[in-house]
Amino acid sequence: MTIDGAAVPARDTFGVIDPATGQVAERAPEASAEQLDAAMRAAQAAFPAWRRDEAARRAALLTASEVMFARAEELGRIITLEQGKPLSDATMEVTGAGVWLKYHAGLEMPSEVIQDDETALVEVVRRPMGVVAAITPWNYPLLLAVWKIAPALLAGNTVVLKPSPFTPLSTLRLGELLRDLLPPGVLNVVSGGDRLGAWMTAHEVPRKISFTGSVATGKRVAAAAAADLKRVTLELGGNDPAILLDDVDPGAVAARVFGGAFQNNGQVCSAIKRVYVPAALYGDVVDALAEQAVAARVGNGMDEGVQYGPVNNRPQFERVGELVADALAGGARVAAGGAPLGRPGYFFAPTIVADVADGARIVDEEQFGPALPVIGYTDLDEAVARANATHFGLSGSVWGTDADRAADVAARLECGTAWVNTHLAIGPGQPFGGFKWSGLGVENGPWGLHGFTEMQVVHRARQ
Ligand code: NAD
Repeated sequence: MTIDGAAVPARDTFGVIDPATGQVAERAPEASAEQLDAAMRAAQAAFPAWRRDEAARRAALLTASEVMFARAEELGRIITLEQGKPLSDATMEVTGAGVWLKYHAGLEMPSEVIQDDETALVEVVRRPMGVVAAITPWNYPLLLAVWKIAPALLAGNTVVLKPSPFTPLSTLRLGELLRDLLPPGVLNVVSGGDRLGAWMTAHEVPRKISFTGSVATGKRVAAAAAADLKRVTLELGGNDPAILLDDVDPGAVAARVFGGAFQNNGQVCSAIKRVYVPAALYGDVVDALAEQAVAARVGNGMDEGVQYGPVNNRPQFERVGELVADALAGGARVAAGGAPLGRPGYFFAPTIVADVADGARIVDEEQFGPALPVIGYTDLDEAVARANATHFGLSGSVWGTDADRAADVAARLECGTAWVNTHLAIGPGQPFGGFKWSGLGVENGPWGLHGFTEMQVVHRARQ
């Protein structure tokens, strides 16, 4: 672990499983409560000097981005080992982290003058909050950590970062690589199980919790934060609808919808998780999606040419199987896949579930894996209503040859990002967050940066 600028071992360790084999590949340190406390105190002690030197912060973020580009292959291998995704995707995750760091190195935080006259000069400025507790999930372990630490550090905060127990290795290595580049205590990385996350949110030092994970845990985080009125940003689950309009070309749209649904094996918060298709096109779209699923190359992410790796962990693997089985029991059929691949590791065949409707668990819940339900509709207003009839509200997309008409429908989606003829188009300058249970606050762009600041009014009287 990295605590106060030093490498810190732990007395206890836990196994990290390679999802391509189901076997323990490495062991990771299990932080004690005392070690977490030391990390929090170190971050607190580092804050006063760090907040004062904006130029040093920008320079450090820029160097950190260069480290990501230079170490993309090394970090990528670690991500593939612990997460399962193909090495090319894992390497892209690392270079993506580099892009995010570079973007933040240059992101301005201007103050706003709201009054400048003979009576007063009144400015609104952004101040750092102090120590940020950052907690991440297992689907994009490195990129989502950087989504937090880049803006948190730019704003002048210091950080204690905890990765998911399923994917701690790449984040621990990140801490190691940045250790000498940042003053001691500015970025601390600790690892452990879920209880470590709960200790972090209950700790008195952090003023802000930045959390990405499931809705259930997000609610616990919010409840823990309330006791101390800590600020929170929550990036939670999604159940993104894709609505196809009646003027789409089934073959062309299926290829793109498949990409938006199965990226990272469906383990993306804002992946397409249910598809609404006009009844007249239903058979053609299902067939075209099934063709994509059958052609997908699934295997060990370390092997050349593999497009989709295993599901990351056993509980998630079992959940996908359970949701597919539930749909079949309710009368649905699988147009492709439908079962584990029958080899060691957590491999599940890319699955298209047809003849399924709202009310089935695989439609109503977040599956977060390689199984996509396709739902027919006859009335567009009803399809929009069903797309919105959920506690989730992360993102969604509408697809049509008439892009203006598709945009009009997209405007009716109740979600943080409404895409038209695309899905998963995300960038460092674009705010990302969810309506309803999908989150609180946003990440990325100036809006995300503001989430790591408090607003202060500086009022200078002139009379
Ligand atoms: P999770 O909620 O189980 O765990 C997320 C993190 O929280 C882990 O580090 C875990 O150790 C920690 N944690 C667990 N219990 C805690 C507690 N009581 N207090 C504090 N921390 C605790 O989620 P997961 O299974 O790792 O990730 C999958 C979920 O994340 C999916 O729902 C997915 O949609 C969501 N996700 C959202 C986004 C987004 O930006 N909106 C991005 C990626 C993933």
